Amino acid sequence: MRQKIRIFVYVISIFLLLSKNCLSQIDVYVDPGHGGSASGTVNSNYPDALEKFINLAIAEKFVDSLEYFGDTYVMSRDIDAFVFNTDRAYEAIDLDAQAFISIHHNVDWLHVNKNI
Ligand SMILES: [Zn+2]
Repeated sequence: MRQKIRIFVYVISIFLLLSKNCLSQIDVYVDPGHGGSASGTVNSNYPDALEKFINLAIAEKFVDSLEYFGDTYVMSRDIDAFVFNTDRAYEAIDLDAQAFISIHHNVDWLHVNKNI
């Protein structure tokens, strides 16, 4: 009986060790806000400078610095595509991200048409 318990404990230990190594834990989940049909804020003075594009550009610069410092990351999107907010959150949880950074930009409410 003791032998069976000992073998069981070894099997569980090996499983936990392997599963921990197989889990894709990442340092940072980078979320360029909006995307696709969700343009984010729009400034009437600069109608082509949609928030979704600015967020993605800043996110790409940010992940460059993460790479420089050796941090691991996953981006919610790296193209102009719509991603549900819940999908972003669940992906970060599934990846066991240590930080979730969602990039957005402030709004000049006097000159903005909001399209989210
Ligand atoms: Zn936003």
